[in-house]
Amino acid sequence: MLLNKEDTYKHRGMRKALVNLLKGKGIQSELVLDAVNRVPRHFFFESAFIEHAYQDKAFPIGQGQTISQPYTVAFQSEKLDIQKGMKVLEIGTGSGYQACVLLEMGVDLYTIEYNEVLYKRTKKVLPKMGYKAHFFHGDGSKGLEKHAPFDRIIVTAGAPLVPISLVKQLSIHGKLIIPVGNKDKQKMLRITKKDEKKLTREEFDYFAFVPLLGTEGWNK
Ligand code: SAM
Repeated sequence: MLLNKEDTYKHRGMRKALVNLLKGKGIQSELVLDAVNRVPRHFFFESAFIEHAYQDKAFPIGQGQTISQPYTVAFQSEKLDIQKGMKVLEIGTGSGYQACVLLEMGVDLYTIEYNEVLYKRTKKVLPKMGYKAHFFHGDGSKGLEKHAPFDRIIVTAGAPLVPISLVKQLSIHGKLIIPVGNKDKQKMLRITKKDEKKLTREEFDYFAFVPLLGTEGWNK
């Protein structure tokens, strides 16, 4: 998959239609919509499945994992409230699609993936597409203490609880967006660190993510 693919007029047209669909579903941030408009999502699909690339749905990427639905990617990206140059940690690199959207938004991205096959694949493929991030392999439920603090943290797998390590690794005024619930559905939460002692918590819609594994995930 991925390489030796072209980004044709037809793909760009399909992407524009996807952006319009996301607008219709309530995504307003121009930074997010422009980023979605620039990332060639079909590069993440085997040739036989390319017609699925610009539909608003999740899709299997192997290893029992999925590339997130474009609406979900756009929703989480918008709720992160990104400004260019921010230092962002993504938990669950997966295919790398969400990472590309964040990179198009101008962030300095640290991304960690638990599954070694996906980690190796994505670490190789994204630079070939022109995207530069800091890639890590390991249990992201514990964050990435060595590189903390982060202005923003995004978790792209469903957690049973908000991992305390991630909250600790937020900078002051930092925001964490994370789906929390059971293995079937999770409520999207946004935690904001007002100061060292004060956090606020906002609740949004329900989503369905694959489980966040690891010490502060479902593997306790
Ligand atoms: N962001 C991805 C994308 O754009 O394709 C979608 C991610 S997929 C829905 C969730 C990913 O989280 C999977 O690749 C899974 O292996 C990974 N994951 C699960 N638990 C993890 C953990 N503790 N640390 C890091 N990655 C984890």
